[in-house]
Amino acid sequence: MEIRRPLIAGNWKMCKTGPEAVETAKQLVALVRDVTEVDVMIAPPFTALSPVYDVIRESPVALGAQNLFWEPEGAYTGEISVGMLKAAGCRYVIIGHSERRQYFGETDETVNRKIRAAIRGQLMPVLCVGESEAERVSENTFSVLDKQIRNGLKNISSGDLGTLVIAYEPIWAIGTGKTASREQAQEVHKFLRSVIEKKYGNLLAKSIRIQYGGSVKSNNIDALMQMPDVDGALVGGASLDAESFGRIVRFE
Ligand code: PEP
Repeated sequence: MEIRRPLIAGNWKMCKTGPEAVETAKQLVALVRDVTEVDVMIAPPFTALSPVYDVIRESPVALGAQNLFWEPEGAYTGEISVGMLKAAGCRYVIIGHSERRQYFGETDETVNRKIRAAIRGQLMPVLCVGESEAERVSENTFSVLDKQIRNGLKNISSGDLGTLVIAYEPIWAIGTGKTASREQAQEVHKFLRSVIEKKYGNLLAKSIRIQYGGSVKSNNIDALMQMPDVDGALVGGASLDAESFGRIVRFE
């Protein structure tokens, strides 16, 4: 019987200044101080990472970043390295979020380079995959996801995948208020696990965590978490408010 520890993660995107992020982090820590059964992560903007880390360092809340660049240092204006993120207290990094793919030209190839850099630097990558509405309607969901996973994980061996988390985030559900039904989420999560099984075998497929993301709120998390292949959530909008994110962390 596989035991996968749920991961509930908050992606704060380009929201909150340093002081605002610190305030929300303080409220969150007070609300989830005694949580032991679930891993919790928040990913504030880069400018808030260090001050937020000072607030959460002795709490169950871990720090994540929203992106990285694969080179260790150098003339890459505007970019940030694994070493910098680790020095700021990060343990996780979100990679290949659909907003990065859509607005900043990220491709499966750049996502793959970032995943490999995170693994090399011992940051836990959260690989985001998801289909657009048009891809779902034209029944291409599975082929799109298969390609994103295979290309995103190219040249990565099973031994290196121990800490990788997959976030299934249908693009049509992100920030739209349209959540995938729990049956839709389960169907895709099961499929993603089968893709991992084909590539890496049964043991890894059973242990890898697959989060759902897309308009997760305190009123739909319980139903989603009842599904056998849903191992947590990547939460955008509803993670900006400590009360609502705290309730999501305490799903039933
Ligand atoms: C996200 O940004 O990863 C996300 C799922 O956003 P939201 O929860 O707002 O849909």
